[in-house]
Amino acid sequence: MSSLFPALTGGGPGERAALRFGDRSLTYAQLASAAGAVGERVRGSGRVAVWATPALETAVAVVGALLAGVTVVPLNPRSGEKELRHILGDSAPELVLAAPGDTFPGPVQALTRVDVDPGATGPGPDDRAVDETAPALVVYTSGTTGPPKGAVIPRRAVAATLDALADAWRWTGDDVLVHGLPLFHVHGLVLGILGPLRRGGSVRHLGRFSTEGVARELGSGATMLFGVPTMYHRIAESLPGRPELVEALAGARLLVSGSAALPVHDHERIAAATGRRVVERYGMTETLMNTSVRADGEPRAGTVGVPLPGVELRHVAEDGTPVTDFDGETVGEIQVRGANLFTEYLNRPDATAASFTADGWFRTGDVAVRDPDGYVRIVGRKATDLIKSGGYKIGAGEIENALLEHPGVREAAVTGEPDPDLGERIVAWVVAAGPQDPPSLEDLAGHVARRLAPHKRPRVVRYLDALPRNDMGKVMKRSLGHG
Ligand code: ATP
Ligand code: MG
Repeated sequence: MSSLFPALTGGGPGERAALRFGDRSLTYAQLASAAGAVGERVRGSGRVAVWATPALETAVAVVGALLAGVTVVPLNPRSGEKELRHILGDSAPELVLAAPGDTFPGPVQALTRVDVDPGATGPGPDDRAVDETAPALVVYTSGTTGPPKGAVIPRRAVAATLDALADAWRWTGDDVLVHGLPLFHVHGLVLGILGPLRRGGSVRHLGRFSTEGVARELGSGATMLFGVPTMYHRIAESLPGRPELVEALAGARLLVSGSAALPVHDHERIAAATGRRVVERYGMTETLMNTSVRADGEPRAGTVGVPLPGVELRHVAEDGTPVTDFDGETVGEIQVRGANLFTEYLNRPDATAASFTADGWFRTGDVAVRDPDGYVRIVGRKATDLIKSGGYKIGAGEIENALLEHPGVREAAVTGEPDPDLGERIVAWVVAAGPQDPPSLEDLAGHVARRLAPHKRPRVVRYLDALPRNDMGKVMKRSLGHG
């Protein structure tokens, strides 16, 4: 048995910076004490909820509970009451850990509250006796395709995914991460907080993402940036006229994007301005991380790299047969196996059973192609991103990428809707780039037909002021209704 955080339990780099949020920070020795105090308070509890604001207290609470062997349910402080009621009813936590000044909406007020004090001193925590199959976290999925489901994530999955990323990214205790993501999903919490702490490195959280914060931190010793595509979009838009931002990004060791597809246009603009290519990785709440471009590999726009060490990945055609052609064209659903997987959806044996094949592979619901050298290119989600039109199966993503190259388009999402002739027709949802008239359907259809193929052109265009996105910047296609 081993600790999730050897640097906190094995007398690690005590005086090294562990966490910084704004002007508040903790060394490893201080974090071990504060986490030990949380551990004393929660040891022996059932699940505990954490009111996951982007603050030092959240990190201390999660690490303290994990070191005491207690399962954490991170709550999104911006969730509505309905969602909170659903999550609390489903996960039934015994208490909620929070920062002293935090206020809660109704459903959370019903829980026993424990305030976290980052200056508290407690005994040195030690989780080495905790079983690796015990649940570390119950993380709710982003709710992009339906109501969020609680994925039960065992401790060994956290360890496996972080160690696989350490290998892929050459991630060490010398790395300093710039972090601007929320702390209630896998990306911001598992990768962004638990990742650096498992390596013995440090995190500087921006509180709220800003390109100024990124430039400041990467310009003063930070080595890595983790972001979602909307952040890289803002960076790409900001680069012209921002030499300090260009220089900071050019000097970073690793720029990583995930949670949704990074538009090719943004990838290319950042590469052209800074000489750095963003590394994409692909994961899910249920599987933690599956693939990534490796630090010593070749980042390629539009791909999420290769399976991580310890992750078995296969592509399965609609008829259930595995795809063996790595030709960059044959589409299949990604299925995975490995120590990185969740154990179940909480209280959803039916959904859990339906998400695994008879031979034990997890069905991701994402479809992809593979290049001859094994690089995975995600086409999109089976449910919303694969349009069947005129006898073709067309991925929304490549049409979105083509639309984003049009100078009159700022944001784009593509969906299918029923069509008597075509089966489904391609609909482009477009946010115009400026105050001038938005590009017409003819203009956009011609633009796409010239870049891709005539049958991939949109047949309908609908203009919006902004795309509906969730707190990770993911486009909520299920709320792109008709008309
Ligand atoms: P729900 O499962 O509740 O509908 P969700 O699938 O968005 O929501 P998450 O587990 O947070 O919830 O997201 C995982 C999904 O995000 C993946 O299945 C995939 O569709 C998408 N994704 C993650 N990383 C990438 C990436 N690099 N490129 C493309 N898609 C990605
Ligand atoms: Mg999902």
